Amino acid sequence: MAYVFAPPPVTAVPVAGGGEFPVHRVYCVGRNYADHAVEMGFTGREPPFFFLKPADTVVAVAAGETGHIDYPTLTANLHHEVELVVAIGKGGRDIRAADAASHIFGYAVGLDMTRRDLQNDMKKQGRPWCIGKAFEQSAPIGPIVPMAQTGELLTGAISLAVNGTLRQQGDLKDLIWSVNETIEQLSIGWTLQPGDLIYSGTPAGVAAVVRGDVMEAQIAGLEALRIAVR
Ligand code: MN
Repeated sequence: MAYVFAPPPVTAVPVAGGGEFPVHRVYCVGRNYADHAVEMGFTGREPPFFFLKPADTVVAVAAGETGHIDYPTLTANLHHEVELVVAIGKGGRDIRAADAASHIFGYAVGLDMTRRDLQNDMKKQGRPWCIGKAFEQSAPIGPIVPMAQTGELLTGAISLAVNGTLRQQGDLKDLIWSVNETIEQLSIGWTLQPGDLIYSGTPAGVAAVVRGDVMEAQIAGLEALRIAVR
């Protein structure tokens, strides 16, 4: 059987040390740092909740390069959310937190870009967040560093600066739901596959960017992600 048109290209993320990681799905965790939950008007440890972005919303930026995203349509309040991204190398379902690390291929720095005005509208109306979260170029990511190189990332500084000014600062140890617990919960609801990316949530300090801004996202032990809005 022949395809009636060319299938879409595979979205791939460069791997530090060589090769490319083909993306299957992009999962995101909502409100996973207490200080960010508070700034969004919530408190306490809720059960983890998830949303997805299509794989082709990923914008992969190679080490040492500055990537670009276009300022999206429909919004006047495009927010940055710096996040640890977990790259799944071995799939599975009903994965126990204690076994979760063996399913991780590596880690990267990512940005969960958000049309906050649209997301807030949808929240108020009890409607899906897709239009606020799952738009094109909404998931920038830096190179994936294999876990063989980093070890398990349980602590470490996470930060984001815009035009050289620090906006977000946190530590991975403050994740409400740890990476391993997140993998456990996610794999109950979905069958994880090699190629899945998990954006694990953002610390406080989310705010707007405009055209011309340059974001620099960093996590200790990983390649920085630098990206300009045009
Ligand atoms: Mn987020």
